[in-house]
Formats: sequence, structure tokens, C-alpha cells
Amino acid sequence: MIPGARLVLLGRQGAGKGTQCVRMARHYVIPHISTGDMLRMAVKEGTDFGKRAKEYMDDGQLLPDDVMVGIVQERLGREDTTNRGYILDGFPRTVGQAEALGGITEALGHPLDLVLDLEVPEEVVIDRISKRRVCVDCQTNYSSDSPPRYDWTCDNCGGEVLQRDDDTEEAIRHRLELYAQQTEPLISWYQARDMLAAVDGLGHPDEVTRRLIRAVDGRTRHAV
Ligand code: ADP
Repeated sequence: MIPGARLVLLGRQGAGKGTQCVRMARHYVIPHISTGDMLRMAVKEGTDFGKRAKEYMDDGQLLPDDVMVGIVQERLGREDTTNRGYILDGFPRTVGQAEALGGITEALGHPLDLVLDLEVPEEVVIDRISKRRVCVDCQTNYSSDSPPRYDWTCDNCGGEVLQRDDDTEEAIRHRLELYAQQTEPLISWYQARDMLAAVDGLGHPDEVTRRLIRAVDGRTRHAV
């Protein structure tokens, strides 16, 4: 049985985090925890929290750290993650969130194994995001270059495949700026703690997955 792992995947918008996290989650048999997906579910359910979250998201703004830390802390306390680990996608996004995550993992008694930085240049991600289409139900990613087989109906679950409300040019540009200001500093933050592996995100998705798995298998410090 393949051992589990506790991982974080960093990378700018459109780097392929969502796609690669689904594959890594399958490989290591661990839950894929995407804060963006969790927030989009809350928006879809129309809760008061979802309504407030939507305002931030459509504007390309980050939600406050304390709100996000609370959501992730609750999720990481559940049995599936305490058993085998997890792959976090979209969290941490600020140094404050990374510090809080350090506290959460310490309190749980299991530190992170590795933080992966999926490297893709800005020109490439802008093109990818403008073509991105997502299933509103299961969040599977597609591209206008490789749509689902039938009429924008998800191959995976039959849901409707649409462009995300926050994938407008203005919101994308704003999210990339915020990434550079708030999230990129995490790369050197984790590097200084010897927890980071940089992985080239260009090329066929299968090849990128192989690179990520090589990085994790070469570096996993704690058997789960
Ligand atoms: P992207 O990587 O394309 O920005 P995500 O799906 O990861 O998309 O997140 C969508 C939106 O959800 C973000 O723009 C932000 O508003 C909110 N969000 C997700 N994760 C976080 C987080 N860790 N901290 C603050 N806001 C977040």
C-alpha cells in the first residue's frame, strides 16, 4: 500500500494546481482540499457565508485570513486527513496563513511533508485561464481547446461546464498581482525552512504529475 502524504501545492492561477491535485490525491489516496472549491460550493448553496464569499471572489480579492484559517482547521481535523494526509490547493496564500498552518499541523502532531511550487510563467497562465471552463458541480477543469465530449456537459458527473465568474480579464489580472504580492513570498518562506521543492509545470499534464511524484517520493520525510 502506497504511504499517504501531507502536501501543499503552490503555484499562480492557471498553473494547473487543480488538475495536478486531483491526480496526486488519487496517487497517494489522500483528500484534495481546495479552498477555492470549498468556497464555490458555499456560493452555490447560497448560504449567508457563501454570499459574502462571492463578493470577495468576483472582485478577485482574498478572504480574510482568520476566516480561511478557521475553514482549513476544521477540515484538517477530520478523520480522512488525520489517517492518510492531504494535498492542500489554494491554502496557504499569505505568510499569515502559512504561520497558522504551521500551528495547526503542530497541534495535530503531524508536520507537512513537502510544499511543491508548480512553476509556470505568467504569459502562459493568462492564456490558460482565459480558456478555462469548470464543471459547476464537481469542479473538473476543461479548456475551450479540449471541451467535454457532449455539449458542455461534464464527462465526469454530467454537470454544466461554464466559465468561472471570476475568470474575467480584470479579476484575473488582479488575482495574479495579489499572488505576486502575497503568495510568492511563501516560496522563500518555505525554502528557508527546507520544506520546498520547485517543479516545472510546463509540458504534458502526465509528465508534470510524474515530476511532482518524483519530488514527493524523493523528499517525504515522515511515513504516514
Ligand atoms: P485562483 O487560484 O484561480 O485564484 P481559487 O479557486 O484557488 O482560484 O480561489 C478562488 C477565490 O477564492 C480566490 O480568488 C479568493 O477570493 C478565494 N480564496 C481561495 N483560497 C483562499 C485563501 N487561502 N485565502 C483567501 N482567499 C481565498
